[in-house]
Amino acid sequence: MIAAPLVALGLAGIAAAAPAASLCPDGVHSTVNPQCCFWANVRDRFINEIFLNVCMENVHSLVRIAFHDAIGFSLTSNKGGGADGSIIQFGETELAFHANEGIDFIVDFLQPFADTVGITYGDAIQFGAAVGLSLCPGAPRIPAFVGRPNATQAAPDKTVPEPDDPPTTIFARMQDAGFSPVDLVHLLASHSIADQAGVDPEPQVLGAPFDSTPFSFDSQVFLEVLLRGSMFPGSGPNPGEEQSPLSGEFRLLSDKVFARHNLTACAWQANALSQADMSSNFGTQFSKLSLLGHDKNSLLDCSELIGTPPPATAKQAFFPAGKTHADIEQGCATVAFPTTLSTQTGQPTMIPLVQVQDIAFGKK
Ligand code: CA
Ligand code: CA
Repeated sequence: MIAAPLVALGLAGIAAAAPAASLCPDGVHSTVNPQCCFWANVRDRFINEIFLNVCMENVHSLVRIAFHDAIGFSLTSNKGGGADGSIIQFGETELAFHANEGIDFIVDFLQPFADTVGITYGDAIQFGAAVGLSLCPGAPRIPAFVGRPNATQAAPDKTVPEPDDPPTTIFARMQDAGFSPVDLVHLLASHSIADQAGVDPEPQVLGAPFDSTPFSFDSQVFLEVLLRGSMFPGSGPNPGEEQSPLSGEFRLLSDKVFARHNLTACAWQANALSQADMSSNFGTQFSKLSLLGHDKNSLLDCSELIGTPPPATAKQAFFPAGKTHADIEQGCATVAFPTTLSTQTGQPTMIPLVQVQDIAFGKK
């Protein structure tokens, strides 16, 4: 007599856990929350018209602008409205800041796209980044909230850390926005799919990536920044640049410092050694970043629209061809870098530039 109600409750629990999707008015998409129907179309347009269905330069660009816009925020003073699209809305002010060099290129296509589909700049940036990351092998699935109102003010200068800032300055700025030094290391997983613009102004290194796998959201950047540097790929040294270990690869001074700093080196090494933890840690911090300045409960949760990213291309980081454990500069003082990782076969090759994608939006 006691068992029957328990079974009934169990079945009810199962039914509640998997709500059914319903066909949207467009007759194409299906969503659980009917309010997300509009956003299903926005998602498709991002994938087809901005990203061209690949994790390449425009995904990199969305992740970059997502950070630069959101970090205009402070827990202690007025440094802007966070993830509010101010970097586009008040572009005349914010794009003139030194740290935002090269962001104008992203705004050139994202602003007309947002205006065309009819979404705020804050949503275009953060929803776009979540959609873009879903295309990257090894990336986490980022929850997608929408409904950010228009920005009401520009962020002031100096909210975005620069690669030649002292680590104490960068740590203080990030802490002021709610991120610890270790949280910052996790956010820097974004450099696994990133490349330089403006640190070295030479055109032949515009798009020089920070790791050897710029289309894969993997642990390589954490491993490769630990390798001993030996060359500058372009006109270096430039402010904010350090010697890189691989031909064609670009190293930011701040990345080198964090990989060896006592507050961050062990978290850095741990991310080099675990694809799953690295990806999950990034997801947690990036989700938080995307909501800075907003109450999550006042936004619409359309996370159901975000696809599961493809699995990581490699289960474990590897030494690029020609490199071994002997090339590691040990950063973490308490845990030695393991000797078990393998070296990629073949001869060392130059790492190619990340190319600009040919899309209709922003064409001049
Ligand atoms: Ca902002
Ligand atoms: Ca990578």
